[in-house]
Amino acid sequence: TNASHGGAAKHADELLGGLLAPGMDRRSCRSRYQAAQYYKHFPYEPSPPLLTKLRAYETRHRKCAPGTALYNASVEQLRSGRSADGMECNYIVWLPFDGLGNRMLSMVSGFLYALLTDRVLLVDIPQDSSDLFCEPFPGTTWLLPPDFPVGNLFGLGPRPEQSYMSLLARKKIVVTNDDDDPAAKNATALPAYVYLSLGWRMVDKLFFCGDDQRALERVNWLLLHSDLYFVPSLYSVAEFQGELRQLFPAKESACHLLIRYLLHPTNAVWGMVTRYYKSYLAQADRRIGIQIRMFSFASIPVDDMYNQILACSRQERIMPETDDGDEAATGDLNSTAILIASLYGEYYERIRATYYAHAARGGARVTVFQPTHEEQQATQKLFHNQKAMAEIYLLGFSEELVTSGMSTFGYVGSSLAGVRPTILMPAHGHKVPATPCRRAVSMEPCNLTPPRVGEECRGKAVDKDDLARHVKVCEDDGRGVKFF
Ligand code: GDP
Repeated sequence: TNASHGGAAKHADELLGGLLAPGMDRRSCRSRYQAAQYYKHFPYEPSPPLLTKLRAYETRHRKCAPGTALYNASVEQLRSGRSADGMECNYIVWLPFDGLGNRMLSMVSGFLYALLTDRVLLVDIPQDSSDLFCEPFPGTTWLLPPDFPVGNLFGLGPRPEQSYMSLLARKKIVVTNDDDDPAAKNATALPAYVYLSLGWRMVDKLFFCGDDQRALERVNWLLLHSDLYFVPSLYSVAEFQGELRQLFPAKESACHLLIRYLLHPTNAVWGMVTRYYKSYLAQADRRIGIQIRMFSFASIPVDDMYNQILACSRQERIMPETDDGDEAATGDLNSTAILIASLYGEYYERIRATYYAHAARGGARVTVFQPTHEEQQATQKLFHNQKAMAEIYLLGFSEELVTSGMSTFGYVGSSLAGVRPTILMPAHGHKVPATPCRRAVSMEPCNLTPPRVGEECRGKAVDKDDLARHVKVCEDDGRGVKFF
């Protein structure tokens, strides 16, 4: 059902209603079995079709994973430079692009695409992320072997020779809706792999067209370069719409369930998360996560940002109000822990100082914590990324969230938590926004750069009414779209 059933007893269910497959080694990835104890909300159960799909995926992955005869056969085929019809295993290889939040969202999107197209997801994890994610699939690996024949995978950029647009331009791939078209039928002419540039530049936007999907079906290897949550845009492809509807009867549950299924912090990260949680957050009756991101294109002075946070909190009644007249009241002994995630220390300092200098209304106890303030993004450093990942999970264990608009870091936190966040509006043009924040319509991330395709996009007609009922413009970015 879609109804919220936050009963903690029921969700001592460590496998999250069958979302996670049983039988994996507990010690090698403790978070996988323990996270259920920390999540505060379980708003959606996985649907039976999703469970069937996941179990079938796991079987396929084991059959096709690196080290198997089928994998070797597919790599041989890749070496030949041509795609072959009738290969048992076809793949999508995820490549890292941008910060951790972006990466987590493109991993989830790539995985859902693999589910929809019967592919196998392999990931090319760089050194800086080598100890972040557990193996997600039982009895196998998702890591791309180092001897993968396509070289320089981390340095191909947005428009390499093998990118989809470039292959189309050079007629290496012909898109048609006529199966008997000889040009399209000639499978030997199809390249062995296609590089998909689906990042914020959205170079290969025709990927999101039905006829193009039919052409790509026959390519054995896809390389995915994206920093986006492009799932809402898959819904606008008629070929995927029906199945997505079945897998996620509530569209808002897509990222929430997929991320809880796919991404599990390694023990190193999990140790940080649980130590911090137990030391600072566990004792509180309620946890509020506040994630503050300052983009260079929307930067404003600390004072302005701080005032925006306060105005937002007042508007949406999030942080406890201060009221020194109530100092003596002892009736309400509720305690609130405020967890700040930010690269900077200033907001934590100010919020903490406020509750030091002033009483919270009703005598409530308020504690304020911030695990790190790294000052600068340093995605090339493993320990930096581990801290970032730990904070994303700590946000995910909050009852309530305030996040920064357009930040994938905050999007992941909300989806993990199963919380519709309050989103601080970005200060476009460095102007303090008139409306400090908005309640999100769903816990889904925004696809910040959806494909803009028109006439050139051919394929079956998508159900537009259904689309309008489930995909809308994001609260924090008028160009983005999200599920609700
Ligand atoms: P986005 O840029 O906000 O969409 O989020 P990303 O996660 O993709 O990239 C921002 C990166 O900056 C993160 O991955 C971290 O490396 C770093 N970062 C940003 N905010 C925080 C924070 O609150 N805590 C920590 N530890 N790192 C952060």
